[in-house]
Amino acid sequence: MNCPECNVVLPDNAISCPYCNSRFGVSSLQDDTDAKLLSYLVPSRATLLSIIAGYTGLFSVLVVPAPFALLFGILALRDIKKRQARGEKMGGKGRAIFAIVIGGLFTLAIVSLVAFLSITHVTHR
Ligand SMILES: [Zn+2]
Repeated sequence: MNCPECNVVLPDNAISCPYCNSRFGVSSLQDDTDAKLLSYLVPSRATLLSIIAGYTGLFSVLVVPAPFALLFGILALRDIKKRQARGEKMGGKGRAIFAIVIGGLFTLAIVSLVAFLSITHVTHR
């Protein structure tokens, strides 16, 4: 977007202009919040990997996809960092971190469960 006062190029979500100090778009603050909520549900700038990571993270509740969520979360985060280094504006970092945390937790749960089962199995022999 451009500043309505001095026409300088600003980020799309700017609510004031740092160059001429004019404030605008205050009335659209609620719209902005709605847009943010919507963009989380229907990601527009999120990378494909981060979307996959987000959904596998959600499905980690079913435990089995947890290692995949962890994997995709790490891949997505590395992908986003690479894109940001190239100056691309990419979103989805939040859902990538979410996937890593949830995926990591449930992966740990699986590993400790397997370890527990194998230990008890050995001692029962
Ligand atoms: Zn301005």
